[in-house]
Amino acid sequence: MCEGSASSCESACALTLEFSGGKTLTAPRCTLSEASPVLRNVLSLALAIPGVLALHDDDPEAWEDVLRAIVPKDFIPDLVNWVGMRAP
Ligand SMILES: [Zn+2]
Repeated sequence: MCEGSASSCESACALTLEFSGGKTLTAPRCTLSEASPVLRNVLSLALAIPGVLALHDDDPEAWEDVLRAIVPKDFIPDLVNWVGMRAP
């Protein structure tokens, strides 16, 4: 069970962020909840697809910058699996 710290955050905490065009990013749910009251509220609701947060109106490049800033370094092994990170 993730308690919101990098040392206790596990892959089960991983949340997929899905953008229009099918691009996805992965980030720890706990970190997103701590980063923003809005995200905390959104993540407290049942997601349409479990483990997937649809952000079809958002810019994935902006989110990449945000995640680089807020995601604990311990989570980086999961981040290198970002789908489409180097897509043209
Ligand atoms: Zn976590």
